[in-house]
Amino acid sequence: MSRTEKSANGMMRRAIMAAPGEIEFEELEIPEPGSDQALIKVHSCALCTWEQRMYTGDEPIYPMAGGHEVSGIVEKVGERVFNVQPGDHVTLSGLYRCHQCESCLRGYENICENMYKVRNPPGGLGEYVLRYGADCFKIADDVPFEHASLSEPLACVLRSVKQSKLQGGERVVIVGAGLMGLLHLVLAKNLGAVVFVSEPDESRQQKALEMGADLAFNPLEEDYVEKVKALTNGRGADVTYVCVAHPSTVEPAVAASANAGRVLLYSSFFPKGQKIEVDPNIFHKKEVVLTGTMSQTRGEFLEAAQLISNRTVDLEPLISATYPLDQVKEAFDEALKINTYRVVVQP
Ligand SMILES: [Zn+2]
Ligand SMILES: [Zn+2]
Repeated sequence: MSRTEKSANGMMRRAIMAAPGEIEFEELEIPEPGSDQALIKVHSCALCTWEQRMYTGDEPIYPMAGGHEVSGIVEKVGERVFNVQPGDHVTLSGLYRCHQCESCLRGYENICENMYKVRNPPGGLGEYVLRYGADCFKIADDVPFEHASLSEPLACVLRSVKQSKLQGGERVVIVGAGLMGLLHLVLAKNLGAVVFVSEPDESRQQKALEMGADLAFNPLEEDYVEKVKALTNGRGADVTYVCVAHPSTVEPAVAASANAGRVLLYSSFFPKGQKIEVDPNIFHKKEVVLTGTMSQTRGEFLEAAQLISNRTVDLEPLISATYPLDQVKEAFDEALKINTYRVVVQP
């Protein structure tokens, strides 16, 4: 029986992360959307670091229907879904938000106090997914689904850039040119910043330069603080985005900050239990701000979807490879290589 026949019979396939390095496929009935839900036929699902960590065993939550960077076409909607309709191309947020806690009510739904109390597997590595209508964001019909699937990481980075209050002409340093570092680069250049990239890997440096970085340097070969000061006429960085999970990068980032500089810790995977040391005088004397962000709000998701739809940002250089659903395992192996940015699975 072919896959289309199965779909026609009301059945669908979905990849489940079963154990480190192990993917299983399950067959299940295509679900019916509830009154405030939409059923989406998945086209593209990008493999984020969260899923990669589950695949390697660093984030052992099994079994898990992973896949949260998803785009596709709306198939059916419940009667209380007003923002999308069947046939719409959409990108999907998969965050659970309670809309009841004080964080949600004060506009911080990205750090909802109850987000971990509800098991909410994103399930994007399957032929269909259900989402609340409010978590579906329209994308232009002519935008490749692979690009649209990157709305989620772009929205997270958009939040980080907003938090940094970056202004045109400011001098930015991005520490680490992985996918998140490069998304910061794209948005910072869009705002008219001068962007320097600190990255030891030469091919990643090259990628950053191709994507518009003004200069890239190797922090293992040059003293980070001296280099940043030299690049900024002795002033220091106005904004630093730390996009690697090495706690040792934080102190130099703070030390190399300009007066009123902002240092954003973007990585979510700093090793547990490790501490950082910074000179506390710097906060008083220089009004440096050290902070970070987590996930994104729906408003930021909407903005990211629109930036992609309007082609304000070009994410093509960040799509490293695409694989069919049957080859999820191969897709993960590819995603774990150092010079891949996003690998996309297309059910
Ligand atoms: Zn993600
Ligand atoms: Zn909440």
